[in-house]
Amino acid sequence: KASQEAQRRGWHLYLVGGAVRDLLLAKAVTRTLLIKDIDLVVDGFHKAADVGAGVELAKALQQIYTTARLEVHGAFQTAALLWHKDPELDSLWVDIATSRTEFYPYPAANPEVEASSIRQDLYRRDFTINAMALRLTSPNSGELLDFFGGLHDLEAKQIRVLHANSFIEDPTRIYRGVRFAVRLGFHLEPQTEEYIRYAIDSGVYDRTARENGRAPALQTRLKAELKHILEAPYWKSALQLLGDLGALKCIHHTLSLDENLLRQLRLLERCLRRYDPQGTLIHWQMRLEALIACLASEYRGEVAKNLQLPDDSIHRLENLAKARENVEKISVLPENGKAEISPSQVVQLLRQYDLPMLILVAVQSSRTIRQKIWKYLTVWSQVQPILNGNDLKKLGYKPGPHFRQMLDDLLAATLDGKICDRFEAEKFLID
Ligand code: ATP
Repeated sequence: KASQEAQRRGWHLYLVGGAVRDLLLAKAVTRTLLIKDIDLVVDGFHKAADVGAGVELAKALQQIYTTARLEVHGAFQTAALLWHKDPELDSLWVDIATSRTEFYPYPAANPEVEASSIRQDLYRRDFTINAMALRLTSPNSGELLDFFGGLHDLEAKQIRVLHANSFIEDPTRIYRGVRFAVRLGFHLEPQTEEYIRYAIDSGVYDRTARENGRAPALQTRLKAELKHILEAPYWKSALQLLGDLGALKCIHHTLSLDENLLRQLRLLERCLRRYDPQGTLIHWQMRLEALIACLASEYRGEVAKNLQLPDDSIHRLENLAKARENVEKISVLPENGKAEISPSQVVQLLRQYDLPMLILVAVQSSRTIRQKIWKYLTVWSQVQPILNGNDLKKLGYKPGPHFRQMLDDLLAATLDGKICDRFEAEKFLID
């Protein structure tokens, strides 16, 4: 339908980007393929008025497919049609753009748009394997447009950029390149790897980290790439490769993949398996928080804000140092006649923190502290006072604000093993 509508208007229509790559890959290994994300580009018009061709085509299609939702993104002359019955099983996202060239008025800035030919449209893309187009309109419908050797690179299993400046223009492509390499089992083509190292050596990461005010879109894209990577099953290999390339500097110029960070990430996985077996936390975000937590404390909040993490996450990273200092107290060992900190004191200390904060603290702490946090989460935090408010009333105590204190005292005594049944609890209250 899309090609008929385009054809009727005298336009060319192309399937571009990831769908072409995945179709060719699926063909190579005779695999069936479920494509949920389709990128179309309209091209071949002559009138200036047709600059909004993509939007017009999307509107025409929506008249036919009335169940689709239409979204128009004016500044970029793109529209999207969304079929969204079930996000997991039955969704389809079709982006329709008008072919365009992007100028970068200064490196790492937001692209500006103008109508142009399909070749130029493909040239602005990230890697050769993502820069092929399949013509959907006649003449020559079904023809593969491969100006930059994408098919060759698919066969050679390599990720190659289209030009030397690519990573300087958009450093998030480093993350995309690594993601595709690890996901597809490809390698970075040697020259491309050199461009990455050159971009990093020339300080491209400084712009990603500091230009938040000037190019927030870059931070948004970096976060999106980090999410893609950190929620994928291959996240460890991808992070390892990013670390080897020095690309973690894009998150913060002091961040590198050293033994300490690797150890903390391993501990995090163990903590997530133990403390969050139901998967209620957002694991990719916890991994990102653990990365940021490895920075010196004065940088953490700023990096979390730049990456537009949610407020609770920013708050956690800003307060992590203080929380760690506080939690340290639970590791006090009995010495010089002082008693070991009691379970009720541990509960008192830890109950002010949520689970993600306790996990971040655990990851950075000694084994003794981790064991206490574990005991708190699995046992001590579940303990209830032996008597409740109703019991106190039945025992003849007059209700009032002091009930809270009585119940807290009962809980502390229960936790510390001073009372273990109702009889002892009642006696404890009288005493
Ligand atoms: P995936 O299967 O992971 O969704 P994709 O190739 O479809 O992969 P998208 O992020 O949906 O990835 O991007 C669609 C297309 O847009 C890419 O194939 C690529 O051609 C182009 N593209 C996306 N991001 C960039 C970028 N930062 N620089 C240049 N081109 C990009």
